[in-house]
Amino acid sequence: MSDTTPPQLASTILPSAELLFDHLADAVYLIDPDTSNIVWGNQKAWESLGLSREDVLNHSVLSLQMDVHGLPQWGEIASAIRNSQCFRFIGRHRHQHGHEVQVEVNTTHFELDGRAYFLSIARDTTNRVAQDADVNNREKQLWFALNEASDGLWDWEVATGKLFFSPQLKRMLGYGPDEMEPVLETWSSNVHPEDVTQVMRALNEHMQGKRSRYEAEYRIRNRNGHYLWVQERGRVCEFATDGQPARVVGMVQDISNRKQLELLLHEHASNDPLTGLANRREGSTYLEAQVELCHRLNLPLGLAFIDIDHFKSVNDIHGHMTGDVVIQQVAQILKNTLRASDMACRWGGEEFIVISPNTNLEQMTRVAEKMRLAVLQSLADHVPPVTISLGVTAATGKEINQTQLITDADAALYWAKQNGRNRVELAPANKQN
Ligand code: GH3
Ligand code: MG
Ligand code: MG
Repeated sequence: MSDTTPPQLASTILPSAELLFDHLADAVYLIDPDTSNIVWGNQKAWESLGLSREDVLNHSVLSLQMDVHGLPQWGEIASAIRNSQCFRFIGRHRHQHGHEVQVEVNTTHFELDGRAYFLSIARDTTNRVAQDADVNNREKQLWFALNEASDGLWDWEVATGKLFFSPQLKRMLGYGPDEMEPVLETWSSNVHPEDVTQVMRALNEHMQGKRSRYEAEYRIRNRNGHYLWVQERGRVCEFATDGQPARVVGMVQDISNRKQLELLLHEHASNDPLTGLANRREGSTYLEAQVELCHRLNLPLGLAFIDIDHFKSVNDIHGHMTGDVVIQQVAQILKNTLRASDMACRWGGEEFIVISPNTNLEQMTRVAEKMRLAVLQSLADHVPPVTISLGVTAATGKEINQTQLITDADAALYWAKQNGRNRVELAPANKQN
């Protein structure tokens, strides 16, 4: 005990009790309410300020607290302490080395031998304040992510079916902050009908643990009824005690521009610019897919190879430009004659291939004959008349071979030319059957 400790207190606090106080993690100050002087402090009280035990006893609370200025303010605080059971004060202590220490001070008052005392327990909250600032900062970042980032966010509480839509997500779809009822139905009912099955499958597979995350690209209707292309990525972020997904969070990105570009690029890469028909590459891809399908389902596949007759003379007589127009006209006639499942592609020059799924040789021959007649009738007035020769083939199920189909149809076309043009011929291989 220092000399400044009031004698009655010094005789009251036992040395062993002081030892206990010295081991407290918080600073304890005994204060004279009238003068604001510190009359006693535990070890933490002086250590936490960079002072010695003697120093702290020469201080008043006013020199210690950076947020208390002058006796009048102390008077107000002292009166508040007297009027409450425990007075809580958030402030800053001035450390001997110049820096400040964030403290939370709880003060009670009592009387001993007719004299009033304040007992303050000060807890260093520097770390906690830093943590709070950190949390605050994170909240700001989150707020920014939700409101300003280009991605929208949703948060789905599986058990209740509640679905939080971020403001940016609502904005993406043309809705205001108070619109869009926060339930799953609001979202699912606007997914494009052609996409809803694959979206739900991807989500379910993730929720059943079959995929590590949920990912989907699909169309969703905005407020004006137009569809946007979006890319969505999500993940279960909380599980219930029974191990079932409890909460799923997802990010949504508007990829309409990218999709439009992709479609345009695909169109350029797959279409023949002169006729608008599929080009050779697209035709080959389609043929490959159809061959695979027919293998699997044991279906027939028909193919016709078409070549415009005496086309060189069209160019020679009318010029290349007219030749181009004739190619366009033939392409249009073929297209108009075919069913939606058939595909006509420009194989090169004035040659076309028609691929007819689920079509046997007899049916394919009829399709070819129909095309021949359509060209003949439509371009009969042309001088010289425009006609086409067609080589036809078909095969079924496992016997279909992509290269063989084309070779056979090409051979059949050769015979159509040999036998006088403007006619349909079967592949020699088909004729033998
Ligand atoms: P055939 O009845 O035996 O088929 O006689 P053909 O004159 O049509 O002979 P072939 O098929 O060998 O000739 C095709 C001609 O088509 C040669 C080429 O100059 C012309 N050609 C190829 N591509 C184009 C094109 O894009 N535009 C135009 N105008 N002509 C083309
Ligand atoms: Mg040719
Ligand atoms: Mg020709």
